[in-house]
Amino acid sequence: MNQYDDFPEGATATDRKAIAEIAEHYSAILRLIGEDPSREGLIKTPMRAARAIWYATQGNRAGEPADLMCKALFTHEGSRMVVVRDIEFYSLCEHHILPFFGTVSVGYIPDKQIVGLSKLARVVNAVARRLQVQERLTAEICKAVEDALHPLGVIATCRASHLCMQMRGVEKQLASTVTSHYTGLFETDPALRDEFYRLNP
Ligand code: ZN
Repeated sequence: MNQYDDFPEGATATDRKAIAEIAEHYSAILRLIGEDPSREGLIKTPMRAARAIWYATQGNRAGEPADLMCKALFTHEGSRMVVVRDIEFYSLCEHHILPFFGTVSVGYIPDKQIVGLSKLARVVNAVARRLQVQERLTAEICKAVEDALHPLGVIATCRASHLCMQMRGVEKQLASTVTSHYTGLFETDPALRDEFYRLNP
């Protein structure tokens, strides 16, 4: 097995071809930044890096995020807010291809159906594991919940640290960015929004 032959489990022939090509590009990048890709510590690095970016962008190949929820819907008579707080996520900023990460909280008002709670976490992963900006990530999570569940309203807030801000440029280590997005009743009823924000201080 050579260093370009260490593919993730389940990788199809097309995946393998893409990952090997990414690894070759990483090897070129190493050379261009003044490294020697053939030195011992770097021999397996292009392939490791290729697998890492492949993993971090698997949302691109995961289909529609809303589809992840469609098989886990349950009938429900209540119409009180359901909130899942502090779902961790790891994403890559599309401007610098550097990580941003943090937590997402999602709330919705059911309209006769609810979704298995772990599915919301799956949706967050599917939306986060691709090149993103935080604002779009937050909005896409809402849209997926809306498309799958047709709730009376959905709201999401996202708190994140951006390495592109922390390790380069302005180097503001402690800054965090908060975004929120909402639809339906959360848009028309500020009291509901407040209730959500009270649950997510
Ligand atoms: Zn960035």
